[in-house]
Amino acid sequence: MRAEQEQKRIDACDVVVVGAGLVGAAVVARLAREGFDTAVLEALSVAGGATGRSAGMVLTGLPGHYNWAVSAYGRERAREVWALTVEGRERLVEAAERLEVPVERTGSLVLAVEEIEAKALRESVELLQEDGFDAWFGPNDPLKRGFCAALRQPDDVTVDAGALTRALLDTSNITVHERTEVYALEPEGDSVRVWARGRTVLCDAVVLAVNGYASLIDPYFADKVAPTHSLVFITDPLDEVVLEQPISADYGYEYCRQLPDRRLLLGGWRRPYASGQKADPAIEPGDAVHDGLARFASRHFPEVKTHNVSRRSGTMGFTPDGLPLVGQLPDLPQVYFAVGFGGRGLAWAFVAAERLVELMLHDADPGILSASRLT
Ligand SMILES: Cc1cc2nc3c(=O)[nH]c(=O)nc-3n(C[C@H](O)[C@H](O)[C@H](O)COP(=O)(O)OP(=O)(O)OC[C@H]3O[C@@H](n4cnc5c(N)ncnc54)[C@H](O)[C@@H]3O)c2cc1C
Repeated sequence: MRAEQEQKRIDACDVVVVGAGLVGAAVVARLAREGFDTAVLEALSVAGGATGRSAGMVLTGLPGHYNWAVSAYGRERAREVWALTVEGRERLVEAAERLEVPVERTGSLVLAVEEIEAKALRESVELLQEDGFDAWFGPNDPLKRGFCAALRQPDDVTVDAGALTRALLDTSNITVHERTEVYALEPEGDSVRVWARGRTVLCDAVVLAVNGYASLIDPYFADKVAPTHSLVFITDPLDEVVLEQPISADYGYEYCRQLPDRRLLLGGWRRPYASGQKADPAIEPGDAVHDGLARFASRHFPEVKTHNVSRRSGTMGFTPDGLPLVGQLPDLPQVYFAVGFGGRGLAWAFVAAERLVELMLHDADPGILSASRLT
């Protein structure tokens, strides 16, 4: 990756990747191996979006429990979804180890906040074990913090996702144009003209790796990728280690991890229709997430004072069925995309990037991730 000051104005290249988060970086790394002349245009800075703000928890599965996934997708598809997140996690570990980015095999806990959720976890573990996944159920709260039961996944990992993104781009030796927001894509012969702040580039193909911002670039995504806000509180270092591994709780709506310096990182995202009520568009999403997270913290981590913690937030993209979208724009097929990574995007990044590049190079069907499922 070359520094901003050294950037020269680019006019043409093979592929423009829009977005320098983990997904964009994974795509770039693969394209670089294939020998493509690639440029990256990023509105903020490298990993300045969700990736750099994430809690770094690389977890198997989706936020909803496996029993829910089985009823929502069917058994075979649910199994495939979980298996893909295992594959994505292992590819991430492989990349991090190769690039000497610290990655820690901590395992993770999924915790129930009520008896109905405890029942869902028990049922999920039975189904997961039958389907060949490593997962264990415990009927009690291993943390003694007001949870009802736990599901343990032994192989999950934590990583600094921002560091991994920077390392992937560095090793690919391409130019990242930071503070360069793309605002229009236009066909020009067989090529695409990319319009960005201060720059325009003519290229053979574009990859949109902009996650929750997709609908701002093209209306195709308006009913497919909903921007969703997530917020993280970061405490001062606690006196002791309170969490040996990351946790997610309350059907995945809240999550928590203790960093090696003993700071606690507590995160959450918005329940769109909490208590069966319609979300009030007048309430800022940030407020709703903040309040929910503060309630969770006071119930389960009362030692954490939520009024004087530092916080960081970011936007993720949620699809109607919870799975990422890989495909091509119907009206401009030279534009490919891998977007719609919700709160578990880290485990999906490498799998989605791989499927996207296979689609670009070999017209391979992205399978379960194909955007055609929503049209
Ligand atoms: C607070 C928070 C905590 C999270 N914690 C976890 C976690 O612990 N584990 C997990 O698996 N997931 C977590 N997530 C979700 C995870 O971060 C995302 O799913 C994942 O990083 C998606 O990667 P991405 O590269 O697709 O998106 P991003 O990292 O958002 O990258 C997209 C990039 O595109 C750029 N961009 C957007 N529009 C334009 C444009 N028009 N022109 C140029 N550039 C543009 C953005 O600036 C951004 O840098 C968390 C998210 C948040 C917000």
